Amino acid sequence: MTIDQTTAAHDAHEPHEPHEPHLPGPVEAHGIDVIPDTERHGTARSLFALWVAPNVNYLALVVGGALVLMGLSLVQAFAAIVVGSLFSIVTGIVAVTGPASGTPSQVATRAMYGVRGNRVAIAVNGWFVSICYIALNWVAASVIGFSLADRVGIPVSTPVKVVIVVALASATMLVSVYGQGVIMRLYGPLSAALAVVFLVLSGFVVAKADFSYVPALHLGGGDLWVTWIAAVTLIASTPLSYTISSDFARYLPRETSPVAVAGWTALGNAVPSVVFLTVGALAATVVDMSDPQAGLQSIVPGWFNTLFMVAIIVGTLANNALTTYSSGLALQAVGVPLSRIASVVVNGAIGVAMTLYALLVFDFLSTVSSALVLLVTLVGPIMAIYVTDILMRRNRYDGAELSDDTPASPYWYTGGVNLAGAIACLVSFGLALLCASTEAFTGPVAKALDGLDLSLPVGMLGAAALYAGLTRLFYGNDLRVTETPATVHLRGGRIFTADPARPWAVALTIADGRIAAVDQEAPPHAEIVELDGAVVLPGFVDAHTHLIEMGAAAGEVALVDAADLAEIQARVAAAAATAPVRVVGGGWLHPQLGDHAPHRSLLDAVAPDVPVYLSANDLHSAWVNTAALRELGIDADTPDPIGGAIERDADGEATGLLSEMAALGLMRSFLAGQVTDADRDAWLQTGCGRYLADGVTTVVDMGVEAHDLATFERALAADTLPMRIVGHWLVKPAATEAENLAQVEEAIAHARRLDGDRLCIAGIKIMADGVIDSCTASMARPYADGSNAAPIWDRAALTPVVVAADAAGLQIAIHAIGDEASAIALDALEESIRVNGPRDRRHRMEHLEVVSVESIARLARLGVVASMQPVHADPAIQDNWRAMLGDERVERGYPWREITDAGGVLAFGTDAPTAPHPPLPNMYVATTRRSALVEGLPANTPHLAVPLAEALSHATRDAAYASRLEGRVGTIAPGRVADLVVLAADPFAGEPEALLTTRVLSTWVAGVEQAQRAAGSSVLV
Ligand SMILES: [Zn+2]
Repeated sequence: MTIDQTTAAHDAHEPHEPHEPHLPGPVEAHGIDVIPDTERHGTARSLFALWVAPNVNYLALVVGGALVLMGLSLVQAFAAIVVGSLFSIVTGIVAVTGPASGTPSQVATRAMYGVRGNRVAIAVNGWFVSICYIALNWVAASVIGFSLADRVGIPVSTPVKVVIVVALASATMLVSVYGQGVIMRLYGPLSAALAVVFLVLSGFVVAKADFSYVPALHLGGGDLWVTWIAAVTLIASTPLSYTISSDFARYLPRETSPVAVAGWTALGNAVPSVVFLTVGALAATVVDMSDPQAGLQSIVPGWFNTLFMVAIIVGTLANNALTTYSSGLALQAVGVPLSRIASVVVNGAIGVAMTLYALLVFDFLSTVSSALVLLVTLVGPIMAIYVTDILMRRNRYDGAELSDDTPASPYWYTGGVNLAGAIACLVSFGLALLCASTEAFTGPVAKALDGLDLSLPVGMLGAAALYAGLTRLFYGNDLRVTETPATVHLRGGRIFTADPARPWAVALTIADGRIAAVDQEAPPHAEIVELDGAVVLPGFVDAHTHLIEMGAAAGEVALVDAADLAEIQARVAAAAATAPVRVVGGGWLHPQLGDHAPHRSLLDAVAPDVPVYLSANDLHSAWVNTAALRELGIDADTPDPIGGAIERDADGEATGLLSEMAALGLMRSFLAGQVTDADRDAWLQTGCGRYLADGVTTVVDMGVEAHDLATFERALAADTLPMRIVGHWLVKPAATEAENLAQVEEAIAHARRLDGDRLCIAGIKIMADGVIDSCTASMARPYADGSNAAPIWDRAALTPVVVAADAAGLQIAIHAIGDEASAIALDALEESIRVNGPRDRRHRMEHLEVVSVESIARLARLGVVASMQPVHADPAIQDNWRAMLGDERVERGYPWREITDAGGVLAFGTDAPTAPHPPLPNMYVATTRRSALVEGLPANTPHLAVPLAEALSHATRDAAYASRLEGRVGTIAPGRVADLVVLAADPFAGEPEALLTTRVLSTWVAGVEQAQRAAGSSVLV
């Protein structure tokens, strides 16, 4: 079966689908990519155990003791502990972006700093600071490891030290490499075991503690505040440094309550902190906590000491494993092209080197450590900006959009930087430094306040206020709030998937804009859509169109089907009533006017003030009103243009009929000159609206020029592209090969720059010949009148262009209507394969209206896709086409069936606006070879028709394949983007004529139902 063969080839390579869903294995496969809904699991409560382990640690005891050493009483110390630990709430809030977006913090912060700005923010805060902490923690754990070795009688020589450091680092990295799954499983029991050991220690401490302790040095007034605020800052720095808390929440289901995520994360941080900080403070009332290890050992029995030391080491490593894990994600987010595992290993190696250097050579970590105290003034502002962003967006983040790191990203902002985030961060960091008071550095404000360190409140409140204010100032009130599509379950209909593995289904689930499941039960919380027997198809892909021209044509007054002069006048009057500038239309025919000749007075009668320009159906003449003649500057004295005539009455006055170059040249060039960017923007929206209304979700624009691309990019920047556009850059024949190749270079630059989900440039378009109707298509044998047309590109000109574009990996689409043109095109494509070697190319040929059997076989062998337009074979427009050929060639015109029989891939499109764009009438012609325009005409060579299921597959799956999009769109299968069309009736039931009247109920792009269908379906453009 042809279909199966092509599908097997499709599935072999899916270059646009970098992250196929996979089940969670022992080693975590995900890095900073989005966690698909199908892999989300667990509950918010699991976050509590996860956070207890790294917080049950020795540092809390040391800091608790330090509070008393600073001169605080127990009550004052406890107050500082409680207030400082309240900052865990901030750690908790930050975690909520994990389930919302499925991405780690390092990616979510793109919303705050922009795609590029975030790289800098993460390089400093996420990566460098993490590495310093990793080394500090390993030094601490190693020192205890050395004394443990000493206790059990191992001489602590340098080689032993190295072995201990490497062993501790390896254990940490092993946990980080295995990742999320292992951390979640391991940290529950670990937290419990550590908590037991530390609680036993607490028992010993509480038993010995001096609750009536009075500080030797009584602090009062200003000094007390200075000390107390310093204590709070010291305690708060730990929860504030966990900007990465969402890394560990991103596997939770999207629906997980944000309050639960924030709450359990905050409690997991705060509970052990409060307990062990307090124990540390109590210990300091009876022992000297300036040497905490010796101090604590003096109040516990010997048997407990070894256990305690092991627990300290394990707790420190638990803390470090999380930091190492996040630093791996940070390195990826900075843009280093490493896998998560490789990133962890690289960071571990740097950390080990720093640790060994610090332990064996030079204690630079004390310097690093005091520098970190200052850097902590940075984490306050960063956390404040993060929390402000979450509140402003109401925690709506789209993982896929956050993952886009191209200029097409909605988080690209200004040159890749969110100025609000960058300025707020830098300014508040500066303000915090002015207010900081540390051993290493005291800011002028702190000096003026006698050492009072207000860096924490100033930095955080300043950052929050600046960020909120600047965001409004720079980006207005429409701060991008991503409406994350809900989980939706469609059921109770018939679903044609175009997926040969499962062509039909009855239910499908959409989550995160993608197809999450087919024929599964509705997940809890899903919004249920009852199809009530409606039919769902993959969103159509129009493999060949001209989108902006289609939109322009849609806005013109169509007259081809007007019954008579009165109807023409009525349509013009209606358009004039709504057109502020001018009315442009076309398609009128002389017989419609009856006894009248086209005269300006007939138009003036209904549109006296607005200029009216109406092209005849053959485009060779135009009928305009008096206002238009005035606008064109035509009066009695205007000479006829060369090759054209301004028709005049007996008095020499222009009648309003313009012939040949007066219409084609004078009028058309005037109108083309009036086109503004605003017109093109409007046409693009009209084109997209029409397409969406009729069920098309992706279009391939076959012939993009600079003004088209500028229009697309304006829409992309304004986030008003409602569908997917794949573009082929038009390469026009130039005088020299160098000029031709320069156009290819342009295409390459655009393709590199634009590779987004909504807009990409896939390759080039070359017009190898013209069309049969005007005898400009290049034929192997002459037309009926003996004439023939040379190809627009001969082999010598075409081949270097094709070879260069192919070498750059571009897709090449060649318009080849005549059999001579397609033979030349295949020669050039085959040469490019010979020169550049074998690979998956997906070059394509457009139209192939008359093509030899040999060329079809060759096309299939070379893997060239045949891009064809059933609507062009409509019997209503065949008379002239057949007359021009005049022989047996018409019997093999538009040979779709031959392509697939030969094993070729066939992609369907419409070439709108040369033909109507709606896909269902196109499917009608494809499957019947009868007319979608005129009822009752005999079928056009019906043996070349294709069955409906195949026709639909050519217009969805194969059209997606033709643009390398089969991994994303074109079929309904798990993992594909949820681009769908819902039809009111089943096109497979009953007569094919139903395709001409079947209504589109709704069109979905990325799981979102498009409002554009309100614009109304249209049968004709
Ligand atoms: Zn075209």
